[in-house]
Amino acid sequence: MRASPRTLNPSKIVGGAPELKHVDQILHARWVIPVEPDVGALAHHCVAITGDRIVDILLSANARDTYTANIELEFTNHALIPGFINCHTHAAMTLFRGLADDLPLQSWLEDYIWPTEARCVDRAFVYDGTILAVAEMLRGGTTCFNDMYFFPDEAAAAAIEAGIRAVVGMIVIGHPSAWANNAREYLHNGQRVHDRYRFHPLVQTAFAPHAPYTVDDETLTRIAMIAEELDVPIHMHIHETEREVNAAIADNGRRPLSRLADLGLLSHRLMAVHMTALTADEINRIATAGVSVIHCPESNLKLASGFCPLATLLDAGINVALGTDGAASNNDLDMLGEMRTAALLAKGVANDACAAPAAQILRLATYGGAKALGMENDLGSLSTGKFADITAIDLGGFRAAPMYNPIAQIVYAGHRDQVTNVWVGGRRVVADRQLTNIDEDELNRTAEGWRDRISQHQ
Ligand SMILES: [Zn+2]
Repeated sequence: MRASPRTLNPSKIVGGAPELKHVDQILHARWVIPVEPDVGALAHHCVAITGDRIVDILLSANARDTYTANIELEFTNHALIPGFINCHTHAAMTLFRGLADDLPLQSWLEDYIWPTEARCVDRAFVYDGTILAVAEMLRGGTTCFNDMYFFPDEAAAAAIEAGIRAVVGMIVIGHPSAWANNAREYLHNGQRVHDRYRFHPLVQTAFAPHAPYTVDDETLTRIAMIAEELDVPIHMHIHETEREVNAAIADNGRRPLSRLADLGLLSHRLMAVHMTALTADEINRIATAGVSVIHCPESNLKLASGFCPLATLLDAGINVALGTDGAASNNDLDMLGEMRTAALLAKGVANDACAAPAAQILRLATYGGAKALGMENDLGSLSTGKFADITAIDLGGFRAAPMYNPIAQIVYAGHRDQVTNVWVGGRRVVADRQLTNIDEDELNRTAEGWRDRISQHQ
């Protein structure tokens, strides 16, 4: 008996062969973990990229019948995940890494960090320190960072040079610096940076008032208003310690969050960093307002700042992102490490082993950050139409064997040395563990030069 001929779609046939669509790159991997939607780890899938965007995610076996590509790479033992979004950094402070350890927040800031900043921080410090930070972040799989520091235009220049995505903070703080002398100047200089980078593909801006205790009411009201006009987020340390809250009550009779609410700051624009001292009413209030919380567990632990109630915030439906804080209080910018600490700490604080499961923690480090920045339509997951910001993690070898659950393995035991390749907007910025845009030897020489200069002043 003859088999009946297959019906072929004429539109798919050119000269007898199926018509293949062309894309720039196809990345095949043992697992693709999109994060959003929460579909777990897709085995033997690939990501198709054209320009700076993802155009498809499909089974590798089907890709060969669907696409041709200029570049096709195989990652046989790897998981491809969305690049990490480090949602709270002071990138240039890498140059203060290890300068003052084992101190509480106020003494660390007032006796060490602020005096050293007053002596040393200038344009070159911020550029060199940010390049050092970016090198570390890229090698650890981070593709976007949300920064708060002086000379944000230098931080932007460093990010562009290295090819990483950045949200640079229009910083405002109640004391003069080399960047600005007073609140009016801080606002003015920040908005010039905003104007300069407003259409740049890699750089965006956010207002970055340092903290409730370093920025006055008039300035905060103005920031709330201009943030609305410019459509940018607001990035601020809030309720970092119980001591901060008690000092505010002693000064003006109110908890900082209540004051910020009266000034019009509690909204979906606000990224509230730390939030260790919170009442049940305050949690309800920020949930209703749509505030995002940026959780920095390692900085909080090192400075003994208190515990952010992560599981309670997630139960209340609050969007939470993860940040490392500056390297001076961490002492690294390692989002894999931060995920592990966040996961373990959440269980300890909630006294519940089921709290903050692995997939949820990976989501905080990626999609949660994108949402906090108002960029969830472009970043934070491996989805068709989003930027191709992708991290490849090698899960091969006996240290990760046998492999049952790649997401749990990444969150509970992933190490940044397992990050082998990183793409930002489709550009490969880490290739086989090598930075493609940064000279590592020069990086070391520059950092050592700064150490000698800064040490002279100690
Ligand atoms: Zn900070």
